[in-house]
Amino acid sequence: MKAITVEPKKPGTARYEEIPEPDVNEGAVLVEAVAVGVCGTDAEIVEGKYGWAPPGQSRLVLGHESLGRVIDPGSSKSFKAGDLVVGIVRRPDPVPCPNCAVGEWDMCTNGQYTERGIKEIHGFMSERWRTEPEYTIKVDPSLGILGVLLEPMTVITKAIEQIFLVGQRAYWEPRTVLVTGAGPIGLLAALRLSVRNPEVHVLDRAESGPKPELVRALGATYHTGSVQDLDFNPDVIIECTGVGSVIADSIQKVNAGGIICLTGVGAGGALGRVVADMAAAVVLKNNVIVGSVNANKRHWYRAGENLAHSDREWLSRLITRREKPENFKQALEKSPDDVKVILQFSEI
Ligand code: BGC
Repeated sequence: MKAITVEPKKPGTARYEEIPEPDVNEGAVLVEAVAVGVCGTDAEIVEGKYGWAPPGQSRLVLGHESLGRVIDPGSSKSFKAGDLVVGIVRRPDPVPCPNCAVGEWDMCTNGQYTERGIKEIHGFMSERWRTEPEYTIKVDPSLGILGVLLEPMTVITKAIEQIFLVGQRAYWEPRTVLVTGAGPIGLLAALRLSVRNPEVHVLDRAESGPKPELVRALGATYHTGSVQDLDFNPDVIIECTGVGSVIADSIQKVNAGGIICLTGVGAGGALGRVVADMAAAVVLKNNVIVGSVNANKRHWYRAGENLAHSDREWLSRLITRREKPENFKQALEKSPDDVKVILQFSEI
């Protein structure tokens, strides 16, 4: 079968090539790939900056934002042929650390977790893949191709949960939320937040293309320019760019009692601009900076429910480009107007 593979930490080694069928040890459920989303993490792996091949192997099958159709459920009684499914990305560490022991692998404390298509387990950018039933999520069939947005939705579901948990430390009534970066994570954050009460603002560098209208369609406000120049102080900032200067500006801009949730990496998180007085910016205002990565089963379940109940027409506008798997290199070159680029392996 055909797959997109890469030798991690070696730039220029990614290729679309013939590989053996998935090993039965990778899971009882055999799935035919429908589509795989492409994100910044995939680009970083292809650029040789991130990623790990399975132990004893030199190449990794890329891809962690899956959508597939069950061909053979194997011994599993929970799935049947034809079901639309998505594979969970992370597996707990084998020790396990206390968090992995209770199923909160997204909070793994010893770093020995593994991740499909990223860290030591093959991903989903292959014509067929296998998955363990307990790490497989059934997608509402009426979502169709939009099921490929489930993985990014899980990432933001966890981030929002973290923010609300931090908020419970005091009387908390956030009125304004700022999302920095109108990529898939940022826009899905705006979608989720717009169903709650606060005023939602989204800031991105794109001045044209689909992003401003996608934000306005949610009843939220779109901004370009810098966080520093905004004429309000957000109670919550969901940072989805990973850019150091945006993070530094956010630390200074957030309101007292505020929460900044960092979700983006890879764009150079070093604070390009120095936060003049970190103590004044954070201590004297009781502010919290919280990082959030990955998602556990609770988030996958909730994200599935949320996606199934979201406006399909709006969601479909997030998929700005579909490429054939053999054109994965073009798919990795995102323009500022692209939201989610997917590789389509088969029709739906
Ligand atoms: C994925 C997460 C993963 C993280 C770090 C992200 O792109 O969505 O599932 O935990 O990369 O590897």
